[in-house]
Amino acid sequence: MAGPLGLVIAIDGVIGAGKSTAARGVAQALHYRHLDTGAMYRAVALCGIRQGVSADDHQGLANLLSQLRIQLTPLDEGGRILLNDEDVSDAIRRPEITRVVGSYADRPDVRQRLIESQRAMGAEGGIVAEGRDMSTVVFPSADLKIRMLAELDERARRRHEEFVASGVEISLEQVRQDISTRDLEDEQRDYGAQGHPRDVTDVLTDGLGIDDVIGQIVALARQRGA
Ligand code: C5P
Repeated sequence: MAGPLGLVIAIDGVIGAGKSTAARGVAQALHYRHLDTGAMYRAVALCGIRQGVSADDHQGLANLLSQLRIQLTPLDEGGRILLNDEDVSDAIRRPEITRVVGSYADRPDVRQRLIESQRAMGAEGGIVAEGRDMSTVVFPSADLKIRMLAELDERARRRHEEFVASGVEISLEQVRQDISTRDLEDEQRDYGAQGHPRDVTDVLTDGLGIDDVIGQIVALARQRGA
């Protein structure tokens, strides 16, 4: 499904495997856009919390979705996420958003709305789209499909380091618990497609630096004409 702007690269994988960092790096290397779909679900959760609209408030959520405008700025403009024109890139990463985002992501109307925008953003190709349902639901005919894997302990350690670096105080054990809870939610979520698509390449990231992971994916993309 390569478009005029290049390939569609879909990156799926377990929580905390480094999908965002890898996707951003691959997008930068290929001069593609980066579609961080997790950030979009996080923006919906942030909006819900701010407006006092819980994930089970059907009417409230319908109103929220009808007014919602999410934009992802290009990487050379900082790769920021804008929620109704406000830069919420940092606010959506806070642990309290991380804890509730799953309940919003479980809502079919939220998924439907975000998937429509994601497909529109990918229509011309030249995009690295990351998130659990990229290969199966959103871009089933993506030119390159990657699944990133890593052990829980390694994922917790990496995520904890990121929190420490950005000044968020949280224990390693809490991060580990949060990831493990989200793993479970993630396994149980109905993403709208079952099973493992055949043409996915698994990338095992344990013990690998992020540059190695990016290098592997870029090499695969080059083989497919990027
Ligand atoms: O990748 P990230 O941690 O930012 O994703 C936040 C949450 O958004 C995930 O835990 C999941 O609940 C939801 N999500 C989703 N579908 C996607 C991307 C993220 O349901 N494609």
